[in-house]
Amino acid sequence: MTTPFAGPARVRFAPSPTGEPHVGSIRQAIWAWLYARHTGGQFLVRIEDTDQSREVPGSIERILESLRWLGLDWDEGADIGGPYAPYVQSQRLEGYHAAAQRLLDSGDAYPCFCAPERLDALRKQQQAERRSPGYDGMCRAIAPADAAARARSEPHVVRFKVPREGATTVEDLLRGPVVVENRTLDDFVILKSDRFPTYHLAHPVDDTAMRITHVTRGDEWLPSAPRHALIFDALGYPRPIYVHNPIILAPGGGKLSKRHGAKSVLEFADDGYLPDAIVNFLCITGWGHGDDTIIPRHELIKVFDIGAVSLAPATFDIDKLNWMNGVYLRNLPEAELAEHIAARLEHDLPIEVPRPLDRALIAAFTPLIRERVQLLAEVLPLVEFFYAMDVPTPPAEEFLTRRWKGRAADAAGSLGIAIAALDGVAWTSEALEVALRGAAEGAGLAVGDLFSLIRLAVTGKAVTPPLFESMAIVGAAPCLARLHAAEAALRSAAVGA
Ligand code: GLU
Repeated sequence: MTTPFAGPARVRFAPSPTGEPHVGSIRQAIWAWLYARHTGGQFLVRIEDTDQSREVPGSIERILESLRWLGLDWDEGADIGGPYAPYVQSQRLEGYHAAAQRLLDSGDAYPCFCAPERLDALRKQQQAERRSPGYDGMCRAIAPADAAARARSEPHVVRFKVPREGATTVEDLLRGPVVVENRTLDDFVILKSDRFPTYHLAHPVDDTAMRITHVTRGDEWLPSAPRHALIFDALGYPRPIYVHNPIILAPGGGKLSKRHGAKSVLEFADDGYLPDAIVNFLCITGWGHGDDTIIPRHELIKVFDIGAVSLAPATFDIDKLNWMNGVYLRNLPEAELAEHIAARLEHDLPIEVPRPLDRALIAAFTPLIRERVQLLAEVLPLVEFFYAMDVPTPPAEEFLTRRWKGRAADAAGSLGIAIAALDGVAWTSEALEVALRGAAEGAGLAVGDLFSLIRLAVTGKAVTPPLFESMAIVGAAPCLARLHAAEAALRSAAVGA
């Protein structure tokens, strides 16, 4: 289904500050943001902190930091205010109290004085009788005047009086009408004994006050949606357009866990993912635009439709994300990629490497590695040898594999040939290649066999950016010193053998 709504949408991201924002929650934010931008509307960030026992200190900052890192700017929100401020539910209690009072006055709600022990016993009895749990409506029978008098001095909650008959229909943009028999709903709490609202009350009150047009949220809220609809109706508020979308599953089904790469957004940032890649990837996890995979942000804004997200739960495919991140990295203009690499290396290189880092060096090796990394975190192992004053010679056995197995003397001799061939060569990648290919051919060696020795000697690693370009960057003196050291090590290994 596509969205019939034509005007600018007001869409909100309404996280509870209960910890690090995870990918499922962030996908809600991405979809809401894209839809707001798609329609030329507004994106709001509202903090839903009415369950104060679950609040994790610092999470509001982490949520906002995640949104900022992703480049999801908001028009109104907890930190910047806006025409319907405040955007933090714990600061909006008066509005919930007023709404609850209106519902009490109209007879759509009543105070409930049942002690927690009674409710516990009721739940146990219902379980034992295999009935669905729910409030039995005992306090519904108290005369309103008596209830109001008792409420002045006795601890109580406020419950919504769900009609005993009939059915409630919720229009969901993805599903069409969802019909629920009212007798299956119990009289649920809207105001707790601490005078904080439940989500069931706070959502209709705030989304009305903030002129929200579309409520996009996880489908774990679908069973509660009829309750919300009843409150909207009882308060005389127009209902928003609901979009209940399925959660993201782990590969093979089941709940997404860390093991499957479902980290918090800021961990993705630490691991060297690009915000654009994350936005693209999460957006197409559960929504699609033909067979397109790489859809840049400005294009997503044009084509994203909140009414077209899939009802089939999507799975989190970390390999796809890594691949996409590699594409985004490669597509960056070279200077921008070099900036990302520089920022990453400022953080990853040991403190002994002088700061600020040499930008000319980074500009020189950036083209050599751009095809070889999917994540910025993979840059350091590829380039650290450029920063080492001297690369320690790896143990002889690392050289003596495959063709060189058990042949330390031959390996040393071949390095000697390479060193001789470099004598007087102009230190450019082209000249180095000509000289060393010539040396291999002259000595009857496979080029790969000789180059693997040189690579390990110069860089200390078996896998590196292209050899000759790397040698050109490292420079003649360090390269020759490392080649001599490796030759000597292999000679003494040969003597020792
Ligand atoms: N605070 C709710 C949650 O974090 C938000 C649900 C909604 O978007 O309405 O699950």
